[in-house]
Amino acid sequence: DAKAKGRNRYEFFTQSLALQLQEQRKLAAQLHESLNNHEFELVYQPQFDLSSGSIAACEALLRWRPTQEVASVSPGVFIPIAERTDLILHIGRWVMEQACQQVKTWREQGINIRVDINVSGRELVESGYFASLDECRARYGLKPQDIGIELTENILIKAGSEVLEELKKQREKGVEISVDDFGVGYSSLSYLKHFPVSHLKIDRTFLKDAPESAYDGALMEAIVNVGHKLDLFIVAEGVETEEQSLYCQALNVEYAQGFLYAKPMAARELENLLMPTE
Ligand code: C2E
Ligand code: MG
Ligand code: MG
Ligand code: MG
Repeated sequence: DAKAKGRNRYEFFTQSLALQLQEQRKLAAQLHESLNNHEFELVYQPQFDLSSGSIAACEALLRWRPTQEVASVSPGVFIPIAERTDLILHIGRWVMEQACQQVKTWREQGINIRVDINVSGRELVESGYFASLDECRARYGLKPQDIGIELTENILIKAGSEVLEELKKQREKGVEISVDDFGVGYSSLSYLKHFPVSHLKIDRTFLKDAPESAYDGALMEAIVNVGHKLDLFIVAEGVETEEQSLYCQALNVEYAQGFLYAKPMAARELENLLMPTE
């Protein structure tokens, strides 16, 4: 009986796993089509300078708006699926191209803003990522300061010496490099000094309870202090409340991003916030 139960559970498990895999394959195929059908769009979320209140940069975030009767799926779901195939490479190049084009368009309108793009680990190990970035920037007449890149801690830890060397070169040219979701990966502050990075984006899970919880507050303070000792700018992610914002200001966190200030928005909407006023 117990054995049968165990087998049932096993069958249930494999069945749902098979279903999951099937769903994922379907989604992967749809994503492929979507790239060709122009169903992707970038939205932009501003990052605010906490000392002046002005917009310092923005993060490009991918959105999938299927024209077929497919429910919209968030990048938190479809990026990991795309990452299992070469699709992520195509998506990554599309994002890079789109971001460069947008910065150029804004430049022509008198808007000067840096756009940060999220980069997947697969893209970095694929030879030629940085050459493509250089080429893309050049084609749109952009400076290294115009496009920043965001990489997670895990990507940096797994990066080989060649990738780190390339990152160092980009950094020396003036490219802003952010460690994304900092604190949820290896959380190893000691690694930081080996990475050629400029910004630490503290994951929003840290900030969530920091104003009330002594424990989270202590972690947050430790990260900010070490970051500052290493001459890194700190960016608070996912600021949703006034308390969290004040808390960040009290810790001398330089930049903040979150629903409290602005949600990710279409390029046109961001223009309204950025248009030079005469
Ligand atoms: P991420 O890079 O850490 O981006 C921040 C995420 O937090 C975004 O979710 C953003 O919409 C969300 N967010 C911003 N402010 C708040 C807030 O105050 N509260 C809460 N709860 N959330 C906030 P999104 O756009 O769904 O993206 C999820 C993840 O998907 C990103 O996390 C990133 O890892 C990945 N992603 C998005 N676009 C791209 C892309 O173009 N390329 C790659 N490789 N990954 C991307
Ligand atoms: Mg990011
Ligand atoms: Mg993040
Ligand atoms: Mg994230």
